[in-house]
Amino acid sequence: MTYELVIRNGTVVDGSGLARYRADVGVIGDKIAKIGRITEKGHEEIDAEGHVVTPGFIDGHTHMDAQINWDPLGTSSCWHGITSVVMGNCGFTLAPARATERELVVRNLERAEDISAEAMAAGIDWNWETYPEYLQALEKMPKGINYGGYVGHSALRTWAMGERAFEEAASEADMRIMADELRASLQAGALGFTTSRTFNHQTSDDRPVASRIATWDEVATLVRVMGREGAGIFEIAGEDVGRDPEKQKDYYGRLENLAVETGCPITFGVASGRFPKGEHRVMLDLLDRTAARGGRMFGQAHAREFNVVLSFKTQIPFDGLPEWKELRTWPLDEQKRALQDPAMLDKLLAAAEDGAWTKGVGAEARKPDYDWIRVMDGPMPPYKTVAQVATERGVSPAQCMIDLAVESDFEQFFLQPIANGDQDVVLEIMKHPHCITTFSDSGAHVSQLMDSSIQTHVLGYWTRERQAFTLEEAVRGLTLLPSTAWGFHDRGLLREGLKADICVFDPDTVGPAMPAVAQDLPGGATRLTQKSVGMKATVVNGSTLTLDQEHTGNLPGEVLLGPLAG
Ligand SMILES: [Zn+2]
Repeated sequence: MTYELVIRNGTVVDGSGLARYRADVGVIGDKIAKIGRITEKGHEEIDAEGHVVTPGFIDGHTHMDAQINWDPLGTSSCWHGITSVVMGNCGFTLAPARATERELVVRNLERAEDISAEAMAAGIDWNWETYPEYLQALEKMPKGINYGGYVGHSALRTWAMGERAFEEAASEADMRIMADELRASLQAGALGFTTSRTFNHQTSDDRPVASRIATWDEVATLVRVMGREGAGIFEIAGEDVGRDPEKQKDYYGRLENLAVETGCPITFGVASGRFPKGEHRVMLDLLDRTAARGGRMFGQAHAREFNVVLSFKTQIPFDGLPEWKELRTWPLDEQKRALQDPAMLDKLLAAAEDGAWTKGVGAEARKPDYDWIRVMDGPMPPYKTVAQVATERGVSPAQCMIDLAVESDFEQFFLQPIANGDQDVVLEIMKHPHCITTFSDSGAHVSQLMDSSIQTHVLGYWTRERQAFTLEEAVRGLTLLPSTAWGFHDRGLLREGLKADICVFDPDTVGPAMPAVAQDLPGGATRLTQKSVGMKATVVNGSTLTLDQEHTGNLPGEVLLGPLAG
């Protein structure tokens, strides 16, 4: 037997949660051909001595829809062992979209997900209108990793209603058009249907995205279409019920009943506030109760705080203040000079201490709480707060942020947590049997968040440093659990005959690297990127994609199709 690839001398952690064992892994074509002692030499060999060999990680919550048009690799996810992603979450997709209405679809994505409209204009070659045509276009695009997609409600609504999608309830005729396109999408391979009902999803002109105009009846009707087809997952960015028991009961009751009635798996993010008061338990109870009644529902856990990543090269909380606004448009060296000019600095500091703050939407920077903003001096916690470092330095917190920024030539990052403030609560959510850790939002919030690293954070922080999981449990959570939930049944385990999506990493060092700021979007817009450490290799469909964080040149990714695709 001639193996195209042999991963030799590693320790296999196979994704099932079973104990690790020493074995070689041999690949022929795009499949795992043998796990055991391999004496033949492979055409290509990876020496995994001192490393573990696991299935590739699967990220169920991304917004790679725009990015895949200009970045086939799926950075930064591919640097963290991610070999498959699900995109099209929260109602946002680039299909269906009529040629004349593309700007309406883009309007939905631009602010809600912080993806530059200029980048989308420059980087997307729109050669589709319907969702099935989009999937064909996706097949043809070069891909480093595997991509599956939902069809998004905001796009569907715009398809049926044009400009009215942002203003009106759907008529019966509108509903028929949406239902028909949803059915066609599922039959072509869409993984399901997604929507958003949260205040956080607004357009750049401060209006709700299209899906937020829909009544609950409209949403339920579309989920019932999937129920009748017997296929499709429903993902929702939910209503802002907060801690109001009446609103919780009403909204969660509707979700529970819809899951039980339709049989469709329903999924959404489970998180808590900065100061949790049990709101996550209400959601965990909902998952348990739905399961007990025969419905399928799973929560999507994050792995740490939802951190807005702040830096002078991207965004800081002061950006919206009138005194700061103009300065922040200047080149960085001019900003630096201004920040070192005492008269100017006094004015800026006064505003930063006591300014006219506007409300941050979604992952936009917001009014600083200096006891919460952390000085990011490494890729994993613990961190000191700005307030702590300011006290050590004997300056005000705003002065401290400015000093650290200027001293580092604006390289200094700060983290501003906006949710998931208590890490014990985060762990409780991650460990819940109906939750999966998978909330990177990768491809979205490109200059605001950097959570493509939550998988390596699970391995480095929760598994190695906190020992909250065994390595076997952690790997299972990043592989078999999501592959089962999203129906990727030929992935998510290391087994002979399954697709060869594989990670090779050093469990003693694996973790995120520091984030960085890149100007590599089409048109030159800024985004945050992040690599990892300890990740020696990723293999996708039998081909090595990255070796020591460098792309090999291979583009072996595939489109992951839902169960109705022929
Ligand atoms: Zn999302």
